[in-house]
Amino acid sequence: MSTDIQSADALPWLAPAQARLRTMLSSERMPHGLMLQAPPGLGTALLARWIVNLVMCAGTDGPRPCGACKPCRQLQAGTHPDLIWVAREEDARQLQVQQIRDLSAALCLKSHGGGYKAAVIAEADFMNANAANALLKTLEEPSPQTLLILCSARPSRLPATVISRCQRLKIAAPKADDARQWLNSIHARDDWPKILEHAANEPLRALNLAESGFAELDTDMSSALEGLSQGRMDIVATAERWAKANLADRLDWLETWLTRTLRQAALPAAGLPSVPQATKIRRLYRLLGRVRGLKFEQNTSLNMQLAAEELLLQTEAALS
Ligand SMILES: [Zn+2]
Repeated sequence: MSTDIQSADALPWLAPAQARLRTMLSSERMPHGLMLQAPPGLGTALLARWIVNLVMCAGTDGPRPCGACKPCRQLQAGTHPDLIWVAREEDARQLQVQQIRDLSAALCLKSHGGGYKAAVIAEADFMNANAANALLKTLEEPSPQTLLILCSARPSRLPATVISRCQRLKIAAPKADDARQWLNSIHARDDWPKILEHAANEPLRALNLAESGFAELDTDMSSALEGLSQGRMDIVATAERWAKANLADRLDWLETWLTRTLRQAALPAAGLPSVPQATKIRRLYRLLGRVRGLKFEQNTSLNMQLAAEELLLQTEAALS
């Protein structure tokens, strides 16, 4: 089962940003460049689509976007000729410079409908220096009635020259209670608090985790840790299984577990931690560093089975 969320209006934590954008538009302060800064599980792409809809809507009565005018219907159908959507191609590690060049060229042309032209760059952090350079001219000398939206979880990865030419709109994750309430309205279950912890409180990420079998993963990982701490795990066989399936989810799970364990260990009941405990904390920190490193190396040519074996050995040592 997978829940398909179609509109930013279905995501209550986006409402403050939507209100702000409506005000910007009505007071004619909509910038040419907008940077949506949010972690991936908050629905940034849906918000970007909503903003495009907001500026392109031709409705005259009531709140915009009206959902009924021609541009609104074209956007819903994905056929609006004045929207350019750029995303990483499948399996590509970066946005291609040619994609950005095409986008810049298209933004310079007159719009088909006589209104706004808009471009959205999903995961803008994945632009390399050449792609960012290709974008700069468009940001520096924007044509009138153009809107460029950059979605980025980590804007610090982008050149300052790009960031400084965009107005930044930061979207925060909702409070845990609000996130849980929203998730329960979609699908009631008891383990949302735990799933939300593993999803950094990002509701769409939590939904995705739940629907891709979090309960099984959680049981499997908990028993793996138990097996390791008791020194009764077949490490080679387990590494093979991990490398073949769900390694990314397992690394996420381990990262959350380690972060929680270290947070608890950092609050000793009284005074400084004892020497053995301090050694253990150091090992857990090193393990956390390794887990984070592996998350970035997953799609490289690294031998993942060997890497998983080393990780399991390191975990076993840290837990002993
Ligand atoms: Zn409309």
